[in-house]
This record gives sequence, C-alpha cells and structure tokens, in this order.
Amino acid sequence: MNVNRHMRKALASAALVAALLAGSAAADDLPLHNVILITIDGVRIQEIFGGMDPVLAEHSESMEYSEIAQSRERYWRETPQARREALMPFFWNTLAPQGMVFGNKSAGSSVKVRNGILWSSPGYSEILTGEAQPDVIDNSLVRYPHRTVLEYVRSALQLGTHEVAQFGSWEGFKTIAASTDDAIFMNGAYDRVPAHLSSPQMDYLAELRPQIMGLWEESSNDVISYRLASDYLVRNRPRLMWFAFGQSDDWAHADRYDRLLSYLRLVDGMLENLWETLQASEAYRDKTTLVITTDHGRGLTGKDWVEHDASVPGSDDIWVAVIGPDTPDVGEVSDAATVHQSDIAATILQFFDLDFRDFNPDAGPPIPDTKSSD
Ligand SMILES: [Zn+2]
Repeated sequence: MNVNRHMRKALASAALVAALLAGSAAADDLPLHNVILITIDGVRIQEIFGGMDPVLAEHSESMEYSEIAQSRERYWRETPQARREALMPFFWNTLAPQGMVFGNKSAGSSVKVRNGILWSSPGYSEILTGEAQPDVIDNSLVRYPHRTVLEYVRSALQLGTHEVAQFGSWEGFKTIAASTDDAIFMNGAYDRVPAHLSSPQMDYLAELRPQIMGLWEESSNDVISYRLASDYLVRNRPRLMWFAFGQSDDWAHADRYDRLLSYLRLVDGMLENLWETLQASEAYRDKTTLVITTDHGRGLTGKDWVEHDASVPGSDDIWVAVIGPDTPDVGEVSDAATVHQSDIAATILQFFDLDFRDFNPDAGPPIPDTKSSD
C-alpha cells in the first residue's frame, strides 16, 4: 500500500467519522429522492403559457385604481412566448427546459380538473388524494377523512413527522393536507414553527405573519410563508414538502389584474430562490423533483375572470409542470393526451418508487413519460 493511497483512505475514514458525528449529514450519501409540490392558487393557463393577456389588459384599462399601463411596460410583448418569458423568466428559461410543462391547449396539451366544484379545497383534495372527493364541495376549514399522498409517503417510507411538511398562507391548506392533525408537519396561516424545528430567523418570520396584512383575515403573506418554508427545508430537510402560494387567487377575486401580474413575477423570483437553495444543498441537488400546478382555472372574460366555478368556462383548465433529474428535458409539451388533476398524486409517488395502487386504487395514473425508465 503506497503512502498516498493510505492517506486517502485515512482521510475517507475521518470523513466518515465526521459524517456519523454530524448525524443526518450521513444521509447526504444515500441516493434518496425528494419531491416538492408547489401550488399557485387559481392561476390560468392564459398567463402561464401566454403571459399578459390582451383581453384582461383591455378590461383593466377602464378600472379607476388599476395601474395596468405600468404592467404593460413591464410585461407586454408581441408574442405569447415573449410575454410569458417577461412575466415568469425563471420558470420558462431555467425550470421548464429541465422537465415537462403540460396544459397549453393551443399546443395540443390539456390538463383538466375532474371535480365539478372548481373551488380551492376540492382542487387540492383532488391533487392530494388522486381523485375528486364527492364530500369536498366548498372551502370549509375542516379535516376530511381521506388519506393524502403526503401522509401516505410518510408512512410508506417510515419517515419522521417533520420529514413531510406543508406550508402556506391560508388555513385551508393545512386542513386539506392530511386526514388527522398529527399525520405530517403542518403549518397554518399564522402558525409558528415549534421550537425544536425552528431557528431565530423562523421565529422572527412567524412574528411578522399577523402584522403584515393580507386582503382577507384568513390568509397571511405568501413571501413570509415562503421564507419560513425555505428556512424549514434547509434546517429540517423534509423528503416531501407541499408549499402553497395563495395570493394569486386573492388579487384575481379583487379584480386587480395589474397586481396579479406583479404577484406572478414575484412568485417566479421565489421559484428561482427555491431552486438555488436546492442546488446549494447536498441533500437536494440533482435528487429533487418539483411538481408545480394549480387548483383551478378561472373565467376568460373581463366580466368573469374574477370567478371560478362550474358555471364559469375556463375554470376546469389547469396546467402542471414536472421538473427534475428523472424527467425528460422536454419543456412545453405538445400534441399529448389529456391528463387530469387526479393524476398528480401518482406522478409524485413514482419518484419515491411507490405504486399509486397501494395508496389509492381509484387514483389517476402517473402523467405519462414524466419519469424516464431506468
Ligand atoms: Zn378563489
């Protein structure tokens, strides 16, 4: 044995001891896969695939307080491709090329909601349970008895409670996330993170939550919630996390298209921050899939875009992006069979090598081709 080789081996042993002493740091070496589900409430295919919509831009011209002229300067371009890249540059230029984005009907790809309600909780329930649940008919803040993909992954992989986590600014995200209060780690609109999982920065962010007013009492601020979630991710390394952005729906209901566009640009920046956070971490780099989607669409005209339900055309058209190391680098999907909101749970499970039929035999199948066969 030559000296160099002996030295290398000694260094490797020292590194192993250091890793063991550091506890969870040893997990860095294991080929574990992580999934982060990101939802952006009530965001239409028109904005995702076409950026600033000429129909709603014109509608907003007549509104007294709208600053749509400023939005035009920032986001209006000649083509839908240029407009969407102006609105969500990181999503389109960096994330999309590393995966598949479904739902552009004008390119022959369609994603449909199966539940007939087309409100938030029925949509999130369909995403998380793999089927439209007939008893989830409104946005009541109650727990339903349906097991979700979040709690299933935790039990199937025998993870700690803190290793599957939910964050978001609306209390309804927390109640729809699991069938029991202690199934996974859940953080509601104004919750703090418990001391054993928190940090001084997370405590500071939680202190701001009730102080930064949202449009409605039931929701706190999304930027604060996102920062809280991303600090939680770095500190506690969840294997599966659901982060829900909610304020897109608030601005839309308030008929503020100018503010919705600014909000989407802000979300794009948070996606960039999240991606950089993941790439800077040994535990997440090159072994994390992002599934990004929405709970429902909304109306198509200046008159009805503020609403979404069974009577409003456009409410059942959604989109989904699957981005990660196991997904083919396709970008925008064209000329594909219609897929459904109820297929998202199985799509998540395949990245953990779990069979959706063990989770829910009535769940939709994984979205075709989103995981390369290995
Ligand atoms: Zn809504």
